[in-house]
Amino acid sequence: MTAVLEARGLSAAYGHLHVLHDIDLAVGDGKVVLLLGANGAGKTTTLRAISNLMVRTRGEVTFLGTSIQGKSTESIARMGIAHVPEDRGTFLHLTVKDNLDLATYCRSNKSLIRADIQRVYDLFPRLKERERQAAGTLSGGEQQMLAIARGLLSKPKLLLLDEPSFGLAPLVVEEIFQILSEVRANEAVSILLVEQNAKIALRFSDYCYLLETGRIVMEGPASRFINDDAIRRSYLGY
Ligand code: ATP
Repeated sequence: MTAVLEARGLSAAYGHLHVLHDIDLAVGDGKVVLLLGANGAGKTTTLRAISNLMVRTRGEVTFLGTSIQGKSTESIARMGIAHVPEDRGTFLHLTVKDNLDLATYCRSNKSLIRADIQRVYDLFPRLKERERQAAGTLSGGEQQMLAIARGLLSKPKLLLLDEPSFGLAPLVVEEIFQILSEVRANEAVSILLVEQNAKIALRFSDYCYLLETGRIVMEGPASRFINDDAIRRSYLGY
Protein backbone atom coordinates (compact mmCIF):
# COMPACT_ATOMS: atom_id res chain seq x y z
CA MET A 1 0.00 0.00 0.00
CA THR A 2 1.36 3.46 -0.90
CA ALA A 3 0.74 5.50 2.23
CA VAL A 4 -0.28 9.13 1.95
CA LEU A 5 0.03 9.48 5.71
CA GLU A 6 2.02 7.39 8.16
CA ALA A 7 2.24 7.85 11.92
CA ARG A 8 4.77 5.88 13.97
CA GLY A 9 4.87 5.93 17.76
CA LEU A 10 2.58 8.94 17.87
CA SER A 11 1.82 10.14 21.40
CA ALA A 12 -0.06 13.23 22.47
CA ALA A 13 -0.74 15.12 25.70
CA TYR A 14 -2.70 18.11 26.92
CA GLY A 15 -0.33 19.57 29.51
CA HIS A 16 0.43 16.64 31.83
CA LEU A 17 -2.53 14.58 30.63
CA HIS A 18 -1.23 11.88 28.27
CA VAL A 19 -4.04 10.90 25.91
CA LEU A 20 -2.42 9.02 23.00
CA HIS A 21 0.19 6.35 23.57
CA ASP A 22 2.54 5.26 20.76
CA ILE A 23 0.01 4.73 18.02
CA ASP A 24 0.96 3.55 14.53
CA LEU A 25 -1.40 4.16 11.65
CA ALA A 26 -1.36 4.63 7.89
CA VAL A 27 -3.75 6.00 5.29
CA GLY A 28 -3.29 4.55 1.81
CA ASP A 29 -3.60 6.55 -1.38
CA GLY A 30 -7.27 7.06 -2.26
CA LYS A 31 -8.41 5.11 0.81
CA VAL A 32 -10.89 5.91 3.55
CA VAL A 33 -9.58 4.96 6.98
CA LEU A 34 -11.84 5.01 10.02
CA LEU A 35 -10.87 5.68 13.64
CA LEU A 36 -13.41 3.98 15.84
CA GLY A 37 -13.60 4.18 19.63
CA ALA A 38 -15.71 5.10 22.64
CA ASN A 39 -16.09 8.67 23.92
CA GLY A 40 -12.77 9.97 25.18
CA ALA A 41 -10.69 7.24 23.47
CA GLY A 42 -8.54 9.86 21.75
CA LYS A 43 -9.97 9.99 18.22
CA THR A 44 -10.20 13.78 17.97
CA THR A 45 -6.79 14.05 19.60
CA THR A 46 -5.30 11.79 16.91
CA LEU A 47 -6.51 14.18 14.20
CA ARG A 48 -5.21 17.16 16.21
CA ALA A 49 -1.84 15.45 16.67
CA ILE A 50 -1.54 15.01 12.89
CA SER A 51 -2.43 18.68 12.27
CA ASN A 52 -0.29 19.85 15.23
CA LEU A 53 -3.34 21.58 16.63
CA MET A 54 -3.78 22.36 20.35
CA VAL A 55 -1.88 19.31 21.59
CA ARG A 56 1.73 18.40 22.44
CA THR A 57 2.98 15.43 20.42
CA ARG A 58 5.87 12.98 20.19
CA GLY A 59 6.61 10.42 17.45
CA GLU A 60 6.94 10.53 13.70
CA VAL A 61 4.33 11.57 11.16
CA THR A 62 5.09 11.56 7.44
CA PHE A 63 2.84 12.94 4.73
CA LEU A 64 3.62 12.01 1.11
CA GLY A 65 6.99 10.77 2.33
CA THR A 66 7.97 14.01 4.11
CA SER A 67 8.10 14.42 7.88
CA ILE A 68 5.52 16.89 9.14
CA GLN A 69 6.37 16.42 12.79
CA GLY A 70 6.79 19.80 14.48
CA LYS A 71 5.59 21.79 11.47
CA SER A 72 3.00 24.50 12.07
CA THR A 73 -0.68 23.77 11.53
CA GLU A 74 -0.70 26.28 8.69
CA SER A 75 2.21 24.69 6.83
CA ILE A 76 0.67 21.24 7.28
CA ALA A 77 -2.52 22.60 5.71
CA ARG A 78 -0.55 24.15 2.86
CA MET A 79 1.15 20.80 2.22
CA GLY A 80 -2.27 19.27 1.50
CA ILE A 81 -3.96 18.14 4.72
CA ALA A 82 -7.42 19.65 5.27
CA HIS A 83 -8.80 19.28 8.79
CA VAL A 84 -12.58 19.53 9.18
CA PRO A 85 -13.04 19.70 12.97
CA GLU A 86 -16.05 18.50 14.93
CA ASP A 87 -17.20 22.10 15.55
CA ARG A 88 -16.93 22.57 11.76
CA GLY A 89 -14.72 25.69 11.88
CA THR A 90 -16.98 27.84 9.69
CA PHE A 91 -17.38 31.61 10.15
CA LEU A 92 -20.97 31.83 11.32
CA HIS A 93 -21.48 35.56 10.64
CA LEU A 94 -20.15 35.34 7.08
CA THR A 95 -22.16 34.17 4.09
CA VAL A 96 -21.73 30.75 2.55
CA LYS A 97 -19.92 32.34 -0.42
CA ASP A 98 -17.54 34.32 1.83
CA ASN A 99 -16.76 31.15 3.77
CA LEU A 100 -15.92 29.37 0.52
CA ASP A 101 -13.83 32.29 -0.77
CA LEU A 102 -11.86 32.38 2.49
CA ALA A 103 -11.07 28.68 2.15
CA THR A 104 -9.11 29.45 -1.03
CA TYR A 105 -6.94 32.14 0.61
CA CYS A 106 -3.68 30.26 0.08
CA ARG A 107 -4.34 29.77 -3.65
CA SER A 108 -3.77 32.36 -6.38
CA ASN A 109 -5.11 31.05 -9.71
CA LYS A 110 -8.49 32.82 -9.91
CA SER A 111 -9.96 30.82 -12.79
CA LEU A 112 -9.06 27.50 -11.12
CA ILE A 113 -10.59 28.76 -7.87
CA ARG A 114 -13.82 29.70 -9.71
CA ALA A 115 -13.95 26.24 -11.30
CA ASP A 116 -13.40 24.57 -7.93
CA ILE A 117 -16.12 26.63 -6.26
CA GLN A 118 -18.44 25.59 -9.08
CA ARG A 119 -17.41 21.96 -8.47
CA VAL A 120 -18.31 22.15 -4.78
CA TYR A 121 -21.62 23.78 -5.73
CA ASP A 122 -22.25 20.81 -8.04
CA LEU A 123 -21.49 18.45 -5.16
CA PHE A 124 -23.54 20.49 -2.68
CA PRO A 125 -26.34 22.22 -4.66
CA ARG A 126 -27.87 23.32 -1.33
CA LEU A 127 -24.86 25.58 -0.75
CA LYS A 128 -25.35 27.28 -4.12
CA GLU A 129 -29.02 27.94 -3.24
CA ARG A 130 -27.91 29.49 0.04
CA GLU A 131 -24.73 31.25 -1.03
CA ARG A 132 -25.89 34.68 0.26
CA GLN A 133 -27.13 33.29 3.58
CA ALA A 134 -25.08 33.66 6.81
CA ALA A 135 -23.46 30.32 7.69
CA GLY A 136 -24.87 30.55 11.24
CA THR A 137 -28.42 30.39 9.88
CA LEU A 138 -27.85 27.14 7.95
CA SER A 139 -29.24 23.85 9.22
CA GLY A 140 -26.77 21.49 10.93
CA GLY A 141 -26.51 19.35 7.80
CA GLU A 142 -25.90 22.37 5.58
CA GLN A 143 -23.22 23.62 7.97
CA GLN A 144 -21.51 20.25 7.75
CA MET A 145 -21.71 20.44 3.94
CA LEU A 146 -20.12 23.89 4.09
CA ALA A 147 -17.34 22.62 6.35
CA ILE A 148 -16.53 19.74 3.98
CA ALA A 149 -16.77 22.04 0.94
CA ARG A 150 -14.30 24.43 2.60
CA GLY A 151 -11.95 21.53 3.24
CA LEU A 152 -12.12 20.42 -0.39
CA LEU A 153 -11.39 23.93 -1.70
CA SER A 154 -7.86 23.80 -0.36
CA LYS A 155 -7.33 20.91 -2.85
CA PRO A 156 -6.16 18.48 -0.15
CA LYS A 157 -4.54 15.11 -0.72
CA LEU A 158 -5.83 14.10 2.71
CA LEU A 159 -9.05 15.09 4.43
CA LEU A 160 -9.23 14.70 8.23
CA LEU A 161 -12.96 14.48 9.00
CA ASP A 162 -14.05 14.67 12.63
CA GLU A 163 -17.57 13.32 13.28
CA PRO A 164 -19.38 14.57 10.16
CA SER A 165 -22.61 13.06 11.55
CA PHE A 166 -22.41 15.00 14.82
CA GLY A 167 -25.84 16.29 15.90
CA LEU A 168 -27.53 15.38 12.61
CA ALA A 169 -30.74 13.47 11.99
CA PRO A 170 -30.33 9.98 10.43
CA LEU A 171 -31.60 11.03 6.99
CA VAL A 172 -29.20 13.97 6.89
CA VAL A 173 -26.34 11.68 7.93
CA GLU A 174 -27.24 9.40 4.98
CA GLU A 175 -27.17 12.44 2.68
CA ILE A 176 -23.76 13.59 3.98
CA PHE A 177 -22.25 10.12 3.46
CA GLN A 178 -23.83 9.91 0.01
CA ILE A 179 -22.03 13.13 -0.90
CA LEU A 180 -18.81 11.88 0.69
CA SER A 181 -19.07 8.80 -1.53
CA GLU A 182 -19.23 11.12 -4.55
CA VAL A 183 -16.24 13.06 -3.23
CA ARG A 184 -14.39 9.80 -2.88
CA ALA A 185 -15.26 8.69 -6.40
CA ASN A 186 -14.44 11.99 -8.08
CA GLU A 187 -11.67 13.71 -6.14
CA ALA A 188 -8.10 12.46 -5.73
CA VAL A 189 -8.36 12.56 -1.97
CA SER A 190 -7.77 10.13 0.88
CA ILE A 191 -9.82 10.40 4.05
CA LEU A 192 -9.06 9.77 7.72
CA LEU A 193 -12.47 9.66 9.36
CA VAL A 194 -13.53 9.87 13.01
CA GLU A 195 -17.11 8.78 13.43
CA GLN A 196 -19.36 7.58 16.26
CA ASN A 197 -21.92 6.25 13.79
CA ALA A 198 -20.00 3.02 13.22
CA LYS A 199 -22.70 1.42 11.12
CA ILE A 200 -22.60 3.96 8.32
CA ALA A 201 -18.88 4.73 8.72
CA LEU A 202 -17.76 1.10 8.38
CA ARG A 203 -19.78 0.75 5.17
CA PHE A 204 -18.01 3.81 3.79
CA SER A 205 -14.46 2.89 4.91
CA ASP A 206 -11.75 0.56 3.59
CA TYR A 207 -9.77 0.06 6.76
CA CYS A 208 -10.39 0.65 10.44
CA TYR A 209 -8.43 1.22 13.66
CA LEU A 210 -10.09 0.74 17.04
CA LEU A 211 -8.81 3.08 19.76
CA GLU A 212 -9.25 2.34 23.45
CA THR A 213 -7.92 4.82 26.03
CA GLY A 214 -5.37 6.18 23.60
CA ARG A 215 -4.08 2.86 22.25
CA ILE A 216 -4.88 0.98 19.06
CA VAL A 217 -6.28 -2.37 20.14
CA MET A 218 -7.50 -3.72 16.80
CA GLU A 219 -7.03 -2.90 13.12
CA GLY A 220 -8.03 -4.40 9.82
CA PRO A 221 -10.26 -4.12 6.77
CA ALA A 222 -13.64 -2.53 7.57
CA SER A 223 -15.38 -5.72 6.45
CA ARG A 224 -13.63 -7.66 9.22
CA PHE A 225 -14.96 -5.17 11.80
CA ILE A 226 -18.50 -5.47 10.45
CA ASN A 227 -18.34 -9.24 10.92
CA ASP A 228 -16.68 -9.21 14.36
CA ASP A 229 -19.13 -10.22 17.13
CA ALA A 230 -17.61 -8.00 19.84
CA ILE A 231 -17.51 -4.98 17.53
CA ARG A 232 -21.07 -5.64 16.42
CA ARG A 233 -22.28 -5.75 20.03
CA SER A 234 -20.30 -2.71 21.23
CA TYR A 235 -20.47 -0.40 18.24
CA LEU A 236 -23.20 -1.59 15.88
CA GLY A 237 -25.82 -2.42 18.50
CA TYR A 238 -26.96 -5.85 17.29
P1 ATP B 1 -15.44 11.85 21.61
O1 ATP B 1 -15.96 10.73 20.79
O2 ATP B 1 -16.19 12.03 22.89
O3 ATP B 1 -15.25 13.13 20.85
P2 ATP B 1 -12.59 11.24 21.40
O4 ATP B 1 -12.26 9.79 21.22
O5 ATP B 1 -12.54 12.09 20.19
O6 ATP B 1 -13.99 11.38 22.15
P3 ATP B 1 -10.76 13.12 22.54
O7 ATP B 1 -11.62 14.30 22.29
O8 ATP B 1 -9.56 12.93 21.71
O9 ATP B 1 -11.61 11.78 22.51
O10 ATP B 1 -10.35 13.17 24.08
C1 ATP B 1 -9.46 12.23 24.64
C2 ATP B 1 -9.17 12.66 26.09
O11 ATP B 1 -8.48 13.91 26.07
C3 ATP B 1 -10.42 12.86 26.93
O12 ATP B 1 -10.16 12.33 28.21
C4 ATP B 1 -10.59 14.37 27.00
O13 ATP B 1 -11.18 14.78 28.21
C5 ATP B 1 -9.15 14.87 26.88
N1 ATP B 1 -9.09 16.18 26.20
C6 ATP B 1 -9.57 16.46 24.97
N2 ATP B 1 -9.32 17.75 24.63
C7 ATP B 1 -8.69 18.29 25.69
C8 ATP B 1 -8.16 19.59 25.98
N3 ATP B 1 -8.25 20.58 25.09
N4 ATP B 1 -7.58 19.77 27.19
C9 ATP B 1 -7.48 18.77 28.10
N5 ATP B 1 -7.94 17.51 27.88
C10 ATP B 1 -8.54 17.28 26.70
